[in-house]
Amino acid sequence: MSSDDEAEEYLFKIVIIGDSAVGKSNLLSRYARNEFNMHSKATIGVEFQTQSMEIDGKEVKAQIWDTAGQERFRAVTSAYYRGAVGALVVYDISRRTTFDSVGRWLDELRTHCDTTVAMMLVGNKSDLQNIRSISVEEGKNLAEEQGMFFMETSALDSTNVKKAFEIVIQEIYKTVS
Ligand code: GDP
Ligand code: MG
Repeated sequence: MSSDDEAEEYLFKIVIIGDSAVGKSNLLSRYARNEFNMHSKATIGVEFQTQSMEIDGKEVKAQIWDTAGQERFRAVTSAYYRGAVGALVVYDISRRTTFDSVGRWLDELRTHCDTTVAMMLVGNKSDLQNIRSISVEEGKNLAEEQGMFFMETSALDSTNVKKAFEIVIQEIYKTVS
């Protein structure tokens, strides 16, 4: 209704998935609080962080969910995915097994989310060039195949972290506005 236009609010749920220790929690803490933790342990408690950005002069809020380490047991619950309209699927560019798991994470995502989900494939730890085992090309190709955006990031040195989240948020906004 037009009288409500000015009060229009956008709140998008975004989930971060991927194997254990790829840097999911640090990507979120870097984006939401500009913090990085070299010895981060899976902490239980914080379910999500809310971060705002402005698009077209409107405040758009992203509620970004982080697992509490359940992914180690492949036990991410359906509640985690419920209502998600965006997803960052993360692997570690220095560990091939985490890249091989991407397909399974996508299956799980598609099982739990029926709506169109804006998806970004994230190759994290781009600072570890010397032990890289997945090329940029490989990441790009997989993302293209799966209809995802693609970005290499480093939660450690901040490269592309903000950009990765904001591209997803902008894409969601585009589809709902
Ligand atoms: P999660 O299990 O996916 O949530 O991963 P964490 O965020 O807990 O990170 C796992 C480990 O990788 C920690 O020791 C982090 O310090 C480290 N880490 C996370 N992101 C990066 C990164 O971009 N570069 C490097 N070199 N290490 C990272
Ligand atoms: Mg974590």
